[in-house]
Amino acid sequence: MVDFTLTDEQKDLRELAHNFAEKDMRSVAWEYDKDGGWPEDVIKKAWEVGLMNTHIPEAYGGPGLDYLSGCLIEEEMGWGCSGIGTSLMANGLASAPVTIGGSEETKKKYLGMLCEEPKLASFGLTEPDAGSDVSGMKTRAVKQGDKYVLNGSKCFITNGTYADYFTVFAKTDPEAGHRGISAFVVDADADGVTVDKKEDKMGQRASNTATISFNDVEVPAENLLAEENKGFKLAMMTLDRTRPGVSAMAVGIGRAATEYATDYSKERVQFGVPIAMHQAIQFMIADMATKVEAARLLVWSSAVMLDQGVRNSKVSSMAKRFAADSAMEITVDAVQVYGGYGFIKEYPVEKLMRDAKIMQLYEGTSQIQRLVIAKEVLLPRQAEEPTPEAEAKAKASEESQSEQAAATV
Ligand SMILES: Cc1cc2nc3c(=O)[nH]c(=O)nc-3n(C[C@H](O)[C@H](O)[C@H](O)COP(=O)(O)OP(=O)(O)OC[C@H]3O[C@@H](n4cnc5c(N)ncnc54)[C@H](O)[C@@H]3O)c2cc1C
Repeated sequence: MVDFTLTDEQKDLRELAHNFAEKDMRSVAWEYDKDGGWPEDVIKKAWEVGLMNTHIPEAYGGPGLDYLSGCLIEEEMGWGCSGIGTSLMANGLASAPVTIGGSEETKKKYLGMLCEEPKLASFGLTEPDAGSDVSGMKTRAVKQGDKYVLNGSKCFITNGTYADYFTVFAKTDPEAGHRGISAFVVDADADGVTVDKKEDKMGQRASNTATISFNDVEVPAENLLAEENKGFKLAMMTLDRTRPGVSAMAVGIGRAATEYATDYSKERVQFGVPIAMHQAIQFMIADMATKVEAARLLVWSSAVMLDQGVRNSKVSSMAKRFAADSAMEITVDAVQVYGGYGFIKEYPVEKLMRDAKIMQLYEGTSQIQRLVIAKEVLLPRQAEEPTPEAEAKAKASEESQSEQAAATV
C-alpha cells in the first residue's frame, strides 16, 4: 500500500520549519547573500528551536528523527534560503560518519557535543585534485603508536571556518586506491589545523566554504571511524543517508521559484492581460510545478527506504539528480517569467537561480549521480538489500530470541 499521509508530528514539524524559514531565514536571506556574511544568529536560533542535528540518535542527545521528517525540514530550509539552509544542515553530513562508524565513546563525545551547544562540524572529503574521484586524495594518515599523524589539505569544506571538528578522510594505504582510505574525527583546535581560505561564491553565499590544511596533526587512534581502510565505504554510506535531505533542499528552491513566478505572472500585465493568460507562460509554470511534485516523490521515496531499513543508493541518486537538475531548470524558467526584472537583484528569482547551481555540484555532481544510477540499473544488487543498521537490528533481535529460547530450554 502506498500512503503519503504525514503523521500529526510530521505536520507540526513541517509547520515549525516553515515558520522559521519565513520569519528567520527569508527576512535576512538577501542581506546575507549580498555581503556573504555568516548567519550566526540564525544558526543559534535554529539550534534552539530544534531544527538542527535531527538525525542524531536520542541516546546521544539528539531527537533521532526519521529520514522523512528530516526531508520535510530540509525542503522548508531550501524554500527559506538554501545558503543558510546548507549551513544549518552541514552538521548532518559531518556527523553521519560518526553515527555509522564511531565507537560508543566517540559517539558520546562528538555527537553529544553538537546537541549540548550550537556547535558545528564539517565533512572533509574533497581535495584540490580529488573531487568526484576521491580515490585520488593525497591527504595521508600515518599510524604512530596510539595516534595517527595527518598531513594534507581539504577544499570546499562547508562551515570549515567555524567548525569545532572535522570528519576527515585520508589515505592510510596509498597504494590501495579507494580501498586505502580511512576516516577520522579531528578537533578543529588541534595543533596543525589551519583554515586557509574562505571562498567567494556565485550562490548560497550565506554558507561558509573554506580550505582546511592539516600539518602534522596528531589524532588519537580512538578517533578512527569504522575500521582502517574502510573510509570509502563509510563516505558512500554517509552520502546515501544525506542525499535525500540535500535533494529535499533542491525541492524547496524549486518550490520557492515556482511560487514567485506564479504570483508575478498574475500581476504583470502585457498585451492588455496578465502574462499568466499567455499559454507560453502557463506551460512554463505547469512544468515547474510538475517538476517540484515529481522531485518530492523521489525524495520521499529515498527517505522512506532508509526509514524502512532498505539500501537506497539508486533511488537517492535519482532523487539528487532529478531534484537538483529540476531546481536549476525551474529557477532559469522563473527568471524567464520575470523577463528583464528577473535579471535584476531587487527581484527574488536571480538569487534562487544562483543558489540552485550548487545543487548540481556538491555531494556528487549530476553526472556522478547518473554513474551511480547506471551502475545500479546495469548491475543490480539484490532487491531491497537491507542497510547495515537494519541488518544489525535483525541480528540483535535474532540473538535476543535465541537467548530467550535458550533460557526457556
Ligand atoms: C559550495 C560548495 C560546498 C561544498 N561542500 C563540501 C563539503 O562540505 N565537504 C566536501 O568534502 N566537499 C564539499 N564540496 C565539494 C564538492 O562535493 C565537489 O566540488 C564535487 O564533488 C565535484 O568535485 P570537483 O569540484 O573536484 O569537480 P570534478 O570532479 O573535477 O568534476 C568536474 C566535472 O567533470 C565531471 N566528471 C568528473 N568525473 C566524471 C566522470 N567519471 N564521468 C562524467 N563526468 C565526470 C563532473 O560531473 C563535473 O562536471 C563542496 C563544493 C562546493 C562548491
